[in-house]
Amino acid sequence: MKNLGMLWATFLALCLTGPAASAENESAADKLYILNCGEGVAGDISRWSPGVNVGQSMDFADNCYLIHHQKGWLLWDTGVADAIAAMPDGQAPADPKATHWRRPKTLASQLDQLGIKPADIAYLAISHTHPDHIGNIELFPESMLLVQKAEYDWPGPSGAARFKPDHPVTKLEGDHDVFGDGSVTIISTPGHTPGHQSLLVKLPKTGALVLSGDAVHFQSNWENRRVPSMNADKDATLASMQRIADLVAKEKAQLWINHDKEQRDKLKMAPDFYN
Ligand SMILES: [Zn+2]
Repeated sequence: MKNLGMLWATFLALCLTGPAASAENESAADKLYILNCGEGVAGDISRWSPGVNVGQSMDFADNCYLIHHQKGWLLWDTGVADAIAAMPDGQAPADPKATHWRRPKTLASQLDQLGIKPADIAYLAISHTHPDHIGNIELFPESMLLVQKAEYDWPGPSGAARFKPDHPVTKLEGDHDVFGDGSVTIISTPGHTPGHQSLLVKLPKTGALVLSGDAVHFQSNWENRRVPSMNADKDATLASMQRIADLVAKEKAQLWINHDKEQRDKLKMAPDFYN
């Protein structure tokens, strides 16, 4: 009787904890790598904070984020073009107030170091179509692009298309739960560009993270709600910042600001990872 009772207790315990625990393991994002996708020097930071710190330069980071989910890999942003790694002085901007980019390591070499091939990337999601975010999209010709329709349809400089027309794409109209379990969600945050988006990631140990894209470029602009002069829509930018602030509060999330080098220098870079 005693043995039968213990068996019954074990069975009950399995019913209560077993399935829930395994479901959690099977259907969650479980790893996030930060990849170095460029190092820049902004010539005049007042371009990003009108009227403030005029004529001063600032170092910019440029990150890509690689996320593992049981259903596949997602790469968030692709950084400046890998070709810049071969330029001894990097790529100087036409406007000296803009950003001079260098690339200490290619994206391809960092994926290779992790044993990941471009064809392993199921989803390629980009925050927006500025060159420091879309420099390597065609390294991944088979990956499904997740981009807002408003960004996809936005005419490029001189009216050109922003993407290769034959690249597989899902055109989004608002938020999108990538894997259907709430662990990786694209958040529509227009303003910097018409179809700008950010990313909410929930990891088992690290908890919730919001990856800003360029909804904000650095901490003091976040604290003071400053809107860069090149943004497509000032009011939409402010509304998106508020939306991110609300999301950060609701999810008790960390806000990781892509170009904020001071913050990035405190984070672990690949091959180290967050889980
Ligand atoms: Zn950028």
